[in-house]
Amino acid sequence: MTDSPAPREHRLRPARPLISIVAPCYNEAESVDLFVETIFSILASQDFDVELVFVDDGSTDATRTKLVALADQHSEIRLVIFSRNFGKEAALTAGLDHARGDAVIVMDADLQDPPELILDFIEKWREGFEVVYGMREDRTSDTAAKRITANGFYRLFNKISGVKIPQNTGDYRLIDRRVVETIKSLPERSRFMKGLFAWVGYRSTGVLYVRPERAAGETKFSFWRLWNFAMDGIVGFSTVPLRVWSYIGAGVALLSVVYASIIILQTLISGVDVPGYASLLVFVLFFGSVQLISVGVLGEYISRLFIEAKQRPIYIVDEIYAQDSKDYVVSPVRGAEAAE
Ligand code: UDP
Ligand code: MG
Repeated sequence: MTDSPAPREHRLRPARPLISIVAPCYNEAESVDLFVETIFSILASQDFDVELVFVDDGSTDATRTKLVALADQHSEIRLVIFSRNFGKEAALTAGLDHARGDAVIVMDADLQDPPELILDFIEKWREGFEVVYGMREDRTSDTAAKRITANGFYRLFNKISGVKIPQNTGDYRLIDRRVVETIKSLPERSRFMKGLFAWVGYRSTGVLYVRPERAAGETKFSFWRLWNFAMDGIVGFSTVPLRVWSYIGAGVALLSVVYASIIILQTLISGVDVPGYASLLVFVLFFGSVQLISVGVLGEYISRLFIEAKQRPIYIVDEIYAQDSKDYVVSPVRGAEAAE
């Protein structure tokens, strides 16, 4: 065995790096105190500095008040407050936009992403990996229905999208500054982050973990929200659903020709045979539905084109809190610039 080559210069990590932890929060008032306490107790006196970037995604409970109090207490906390709920993907985008670390760790605020793993992430990052993601050992903390649908979605996504999302990964991961900059440069409004993380590539590795139950509160993702999320993922990363209709159409046309020949021959041989009401109706209904589905798929793509074309910002910032930049000047849209 030869030694692995020395890391190239851009993979050399600073001796005392700054690690940003980005946590989107939507109605997490019951979790944030415990979250901050746990993070600080695990990451105290390590050989890196930590900053915590919270994004309050338009919470309607006491999350905002609690986060502001925490930011007043700890100089390591930066807080981005949205003007309304923009969704987790937008919150993650804002977190990456505002994080300043040499590496950024994205994690949920409900302690379902075990903070102990951060040390393993950083170790792998120091070895030279640009992306280190958490891989769930099992999905026993999920319901059977969620396990089956999630599994089905990732299999379908990986088959038709051209990028591969590793099985059983969530958003919990560490990404190097270079990857953060690459992701920030992607212009799309519809941000299926898991897909974007996979799409940009770079040297990646996984770390296994067991996902615990939520520390408090309940999941924000209803079935309908997850369905839309899945549609965003597929439509954003694959054109197969658009193109498949030409082939379905060609196949059906071919079958029609064969069937038409049979009918014509039958009529020629055994004369006119009028009954056929049932089969006629079945054909009309079937092809009517197939056409509606294909139009619906077109609609999925066009509606997203429409949203992209409007060029509205991904999120709107109401306020930013950070002890070191009281005079932070914020343009209310994405890409807020610090006045430093
Ligand atoms: N979240 C968010 N905006 C939303 C929904 C969720 O910022 O519109 C955050 C939420 O506060 C949590 C993370 O995204 O920190 C994951 O949400 P949740 O725990 O509800 O998802 P699950 O773990 O059930 O997949
Ligand atoms: Mg959760």
